[in-house]
Amino acid sequence: MAATDVFVIGGGPAGLAAAIAARRKGLRVVLADGNCPPIDKACGEGLMPETRRAAAALGIAIPETAGREFRGVRFLSERFSVQADFPGQEGLGVRRTALHRLLVAAAEQAGVDLRWNQPVTGPEMVKADWVIGADGAGSQVRRWAGLDRIRNSSRRYAFRRHFAVAPWSRHMEVHWGDGCQIYITPTGSGEVCAALISRDPHLRLEQAMARSFPRLAERLRGAEPTSRERGSTTSTLRLAAVARGNVALVGDASGSVDAITGEGIGLSFRQASVLADAMAAGDLRRYDAAHPRLAFRPMLMANLMLVLDRGRALREMGIGALASAPLVFRKLLEVHAGA
Ligand SMILES: Cc1cc2nc3c(=O)[nH]c(=O)nc-3n(C[C@H](O)[C@H](O)[C@H](O)COP(=O)(O)OP(=O)(O)OC[C@H]3O[C@@H](n4cnc5c(N)ncnc54)[C@H](O)[C@@H]3O)c2cc1C
Repeated sequence: MAATDVFVIGGGPAGLAAAIAARRKGLRVVLADGNCPPIDKACGEGLMPETRRAAAALGIAIPETAGREFRGVRFLSERFSVQADFPGQEGLGVRRTALHRLLVAAAEQAGVDLRWNQPVTGPEMVKADWVIGADGAGSQVRRWAGLDRIRNSSRRYAFRRHFAVAPWSRHMEVHWGDGCQIYITPTGSGEVCAALISRDPHLRLEQAMARSFPRLAERLRGAEPTSRERGSTTSTLRLAAVARGNVALVGDASGSVDAITGEGIGLSFRQASVLADAMAAGDLRRYDAAHPRLAFRPMLMANLMLVLDRGRALREMGIGALASAPLVFRKLLEVHAGA
């Protein structure tokens, strides 16, 4: 492959954002991905207000018409529910494929040399001053660069599917059940995305709904599925370092937060900006140093939320306490939304 200033391996949200950010610094950028757009992936499809701001800061336009706005988050357990609105801007539910199309268009417009259907199978294929590994959670670049020293990690399993039904709420809903959660994001005026997350690789959406979420099952009864069920893992992963020599990792390749936060894409956008600054300054150590700070808040929020996943009593007590003190829930949401 041709020599360039920056070579990005992986064209998901992180790779495309990193490529756009590097182009904005005037660097020549080649991006290769083994798949063809629009690339789909199991995702909750919620863009938090901060994610929308991070996209705008990179010059990426994600119009409201691409999906459906939601004004906050609602937690529901067997007995309690509590909700709060984001301060200021709303979140946006967008189909993953629609988001990918928008990101690809923004990268084309920025002048990124995009090479689809081109898997990178070894480091010798890449000639560039800087190499960005944006090849997702199972990153090979991480291994090639010797960056696979893991500080801590835990894994859960996820399935997502869309249903043709008018969103019944202006909030993204997180339904808490025994050992699992389903979150519902409105993605259009006549569609919602349902994402199940659990520690059981065999638990599927329909089964979980029948077992633990009768109210949700009732809502979705008779609604036609508008996508096939797509599975994935979601990890909490922290690496000892995310840059070495001329190689840096971004997005899920660089570590990840549990999907329950709805933060993965926004985090990768923020990493992309900082990484571009570091490349322009000729020093990836700046990015390596800033990376844990960027991930700190989402990690903290994920840990807090996952306390509610430690059994029925704790969950009902926690959500019950938040329901009786909605101001605390609102403050937590404000922190989560980066206010
Ligand atoms: C169930 C679930 C729900 C989620 N919900 C949300 C949410 O609501 N909001 C949110 O912000 N985040 C959410 N996330 C997190 C978000 O989906 C991820 O953080 C995001 O997809 C990471 O993007 P990425 O570009 O790093 O990786 P990916 O999207 O995995 O992209 C990696 C790309 O690299 C390519 N690739 C891999 N290997 C190679 C190779 N050798 N050569 C070339 N190309 C290669 C792949 O084809 C792929 O296109 C969720 C995650 C899960 C699992």
